[in-house]
Amino acid sequence: MSAQMQVDAVVLGGGIVGASAALMLARKGKTVALLERDFCGSHSSGVNYGGVRRQGRPLSQLPLSQRAHQLWSHLPELIGIDGEYVRSGHLKLARSHTDMAALQQYAESTRGFGLDLQLLDHGQLRARFPWVGDIAVGASLCPDDGHANPRLVSPAFARAAKRFGAQVFEQTEVTHIEHDGQAFVLHCANGLQVRAPWLLNCAGAWAGTVAAQFGEAVPMHSGHPAMLVTEPVAVVMDVSTGVEGGGIYARQVARGNCVLGGGQGFATSPQQARPGQAAVLEILRNAVELYPFLAGAQAIRTWSGTEGYLPDREPVIGASTTQPGLLHGFGFAGSGFQIAPAVGEALAELVCTGQTTQPIDAFSIRRFQPTPTRQSIA
Ligand SMILES: Cc1cc2nc3c(=O)[nH]c(=O)nc-3n(C[C@H](O)[C@H](O)[C@H](O)COP(=O)(O)OP(=O)(O)OC[C@H]3O[C@@H](n4cnc5c(N)ncnc54)[C@H](O)[C@@H]3O)c2cc1C
Repeated sequence: MSAQMQVDAVVLGGGIVGASAALMLARKGKTVALLERDFCGSHSSGVNYGGVRRQGRPLSQLPLSQRAHQLWSHLPELIGIDGEYVRSGHLKLARSHTDMAALQQYAESTRGFGLDLQLLDHGQLRARFPWVGDIAVGASLCPDDGHANPRLVSPAFARAAKRFGAQVFEQTEVTHIEHDGQAFVLHCANGLQVRAPWLLNCAGAWAGTVAAQFGEAVPMHSGHPAMLVTEPVAVVMDVSTGVEGGGIYARQVARGNCVLGGGQGFATSPQQARPGQAAVLEILRNAVELYPFLAGAQAIRTWSGTEGYLPDREPVIGASTTQPGLLHGFGFAGSGFQIAPAVGEALAELVCTGQTTQPIDAFSIRRFQPTPTRQSIA
């Protein structure tokens, strides 16, 4: 391929963040090219746990997360499939009274955000969710959170963008980016060249390279959450679950398989990762305590992915401070699946109007720039 093209906006990275930005831009009538090195949704966006949850997020993310919650409620209209999305509820379990106090504290601090959290003591938990292990002393339920199948949902965002006119290029690795004073020019390994006044850096765990090229290096590292799925077992788990303090999360799909995650695996190359034996054994150990009905169930597959983490575990979303026309959307620290549709929408608003209705200042890349010393100010 040696095509050259000019568009209003070029999106680097066909994960759910880049694909939703491309979809929102195309819906707003912009010409868009979405460039993906592998296949759309083949990295974090397609291999994640599938938690579509607001509960547990920092307060800074809740406005975006609430907007995403509205967008998820229109998923079939947005991407053409239901993606196995269900508002099952998200149950966060406490294994100690200290953890229960933390859940209470979170419920108080998020009042007014529309999460409608319900605190359950030991007796209420046992009565309502009798399949939860006795080790749990209580829980917090977010009734409208849920889960979805990431393998279906994330590629569907890219297909929907295409239906709205975006040009989607898979197996198209961006190898070089320049700015000629008026527009970005992206050079791809397959010969494609794309010119655009707007560049959306949605390259997931690999986005730091682009930021650094434009003088905005960020201290991002890659993490590799460990996952497994069991054989189908009798369907008992009617909510997606997590645990205060972390360690394990689990959900059951309609056909009976339980999807469980927890701990970290390791990279086998810059783009590949494995869950590793230690993390898998830890998930199984925790599972037997918290979900006793899984005792004896066979794990039929394990996997991991590559995700970008910044030190404060908050993403970078918004305009570059060094290069006009450059927008960032990366570093989602293991929780970008749920908020991605709203992030894509906010990035599209920035392209179309120069501003967004979402409060995204907390996610500015500026927070990683060195603060000027007295001497340098002088
Ligand atoms: C195992 C696991 C479990 C998770 N569980 C949850 C969960 O339950 N709930 C939740 O909300 N979040 C979860 N997450 C996090 C969530 O999956 C991510 O935050 C989200 O998918 C990030 O989307 P993205 O589009 O930024 O990144 P990605 O999906 O990584 O997409 C970035 C894309 O950029 C492409 N790219 C990079 N460089 C180039 C280049 N030079 N040229 C072309 N293309 C390039 C990559 O190939 C990749 O496809 C989990 C993540 C993992 C790994």
